Amino acid sequence: MAIVINTSVYCPLCANTMGSSYFYSDNQRDYYKCSNCNLIHVPPFQYLSKENELAEYDKHQNSQSDPGYRKFLSRLFNPLNSRLSPRSCGLDFGSGPGPTLFVMFEEAGHNINIYDQFYAPEKEVLLQQYDFITACEVVEHLHHPTDNFEQLWSILKPGGWLGIMTKLALGKDAFSKWHYKTDPTHVCFFSKETMNWQAEKWKTTALYFGNDVILFQKSM
Ligand SMILES: [Zn+2]
Repeated sequence: MAIVINTSVYCPLCANTMGSSYFYSDNQRDYYKCSNCNLIHVPPFQYLSKENELAEYDKHQNSQSDPGYRKFLSRLFNPLNSRLSPRSCGLDFGSGPGPTLFVMFEEAGHNINIYDQFYAPEKEVLLQQYDFITACEVVEHLHHPTDNFEQLWSILKPGGWLGIMTKLALGKDAFSKWHYKTDPTHVCFFSKETMNWQAEKWKTTALYFGNDVILFQKSM
């Protein structure tokens, strides 16, 4: 059990001035929950160093030819692809060590760029405007989610779609048994309440598909 020193931690999503309150601890880390946006998050001093974070990502063996991985990605691909016009222009943000989602969109006739701070760090792609943006198993890793969210929203065209895949947090009981929090690179845990808070901020509605896919459409 980690020792809790701070009772209040700054929320990295909504910058709630009241801070977040202590929520839970396991033998690795502490978790705080924001009373405003409900984000559950790890305090920054418990984040991995960049080197150790990259070492964790390098362990992932995802592959473009792995049908199981494609099936997993189809949970995001299918609902998003069905909403796109032919030959849409997209960005896969946080494409990771074995980018595969962009291949699926390319095969469907779209043009897609990739960006990843470790594996595809060409920042020019963040200066273009897109019909759709994906962030698949990415947002739970973000140290500054509000900065990334606002950047992605700003490069989305009016009427464009942002598709996020992340496992949604449930109550404290479920959280205590949740394997998702044991990955040391996971530092932000979003619930439906958090996604709805974000949607309201963006003056849109969050659409849910299962317990891990969320789509937001930017208004025209
Ligand atoms: Zn918050």
